[in-house]
Amino acid sequence: MTMQQYIEDAEKALLHTYNRYQIVLDKGEGVHLYDLEGKKYLDFVSGIAVFALGYGNREYNDALKAQIDKLLHTSNYYYNVPAVEAAKKLQKVSGMDRIFFTNSGAEAIEGAIKAARKYAYLKDGTTDHEIIAMEHSFHGRTMGALSVTGNPHYREAFEPMIGNIRFAQLNDIDSVKAQITDKTCAIILETVQGEGGIYPAEEAFLKELRAICDEKDILLILDEIQCGMGRTGYMFAWQKYGVKPDIMTSAKALGCGVPVGAFMMTEKVGQSSLVAGDHGSTYGGNPFVCAAICKVLELFEKENILENVKQTGDYLFEKLEELVKDYDCIKTHRGVGLMQGLIFKEPVAPVINKALEKGLILINAGSNIIRFVPPLIISRENVDEMIMILRECLKEAAL
Ligand SMILES: *Cc1c(COP(=O)(O)O)cnc(C)c1O
Repeated sequence: MTMQQYIEDAEKALLHTYNRYQIVLDKGEGVHLYDLEGKKYLDFVSGIAVFALGYGNREYNDALKAQIDKLLHTSNYYYNVPAVEAAKKLQKVSGMDRIFFTNSGAEAIEGAIKAARKYAYLKDGTTDHEIIAMEHSFHGRTMGALSVTGNPHYREAFEPMIGNIRFAQLNDIDSVKAQITDKTCAIILETVQGEGGIYPAEEAFLKELRAICDEKDILLILDEIQCGMGRTGYMFAWQKYGVKPDIMTSAKALGCGVPVGAFMMTEKVGQSSLVAGDHGSTYGGNPFVCAAICKVLELFEKENILENVKQTGDYLFEKLEELVKDYDCIKTHRGVGLMQGLIFKEPVAPVINKALEKGLILINAGSNIIRFVPPLIISRENVDEMIMILRECLKEAAL
């Protein structure tokens, strides 16, 4: 079957919840992807901040194959070795004490919300606690995650939400204070907003949040699903500022291609929130996905991923700054490490489509922003190639 036939069949069979680019991706190698017709693409999306190690990492693939032959799944009613190993490794890199594995990011958010509500419930015996979330945030598509997502367009058709959610502005501490009541049990935010347009939380804001949370025994929940796992040059973005959350979520690059997420908490929350019977998951933390986590964390260290993100991220930053100077259609640029955005005055779809024609995979974050979230193993040469193609696209798209 041709690529076009697959695309037509897809549109007949799959629910149309994505406006997909007109290519069928078939295989990957390092930082490159190939479509069904054998066309090669330089990938600056990595499955949206997932494939940190690049495609076809031999050690990673071998570890997964070995685990398939050994044991794919057991119920969480029994222990399994990869889950224990993965949890210990995660404790070490995150500094968090208690871990629950999920199948996705949205589920990690659901768990974080439940843990926060239960913590507050055990304190005062009431059930009408409130959570403060940020405007322009994105936390996932399930009902709880949607409820704390600060984009009314995503929520509207699915009302009512879970309730008792209030919204504040990222980096505006007074807007947060204005939403705090006696019923506030948690404040949730992405340390660096991803889908909302690559907005990093500022150090002062995070520190003030931490202080308020400490003073009032409110739980600080940091969503590190996109910005975590090395993407900012730190294993988790908050580690740059030393502002430790009470609960943290992870997913995306945690499994580097297998569906897995986690919510993690400090011992204080762990000792006074979810207990046996409160929460569960059939697949969550099964041996297969946990073998992936173990290998991912091992390879992060072995391949010096954080160092590469810092260096190549700085280089990407310089190169994108040059674009801002050279092109009137670009308004500004922001981001950190290998999570950066170019903010245009107009929609970026024509640029992204041109790039695809020229063998470069890019993605937007909102209509006017190109988001750069490549595999964390990219090199300066890859950045140079991307910039060269992007410059051609900007010329031809004539924005
Ligand atoms: C992608 C994302 C989610 C949702 O993760 P899924 O695995 O798609 O459910 C939640 N929060 C942030 C910050 C994300 O980027």
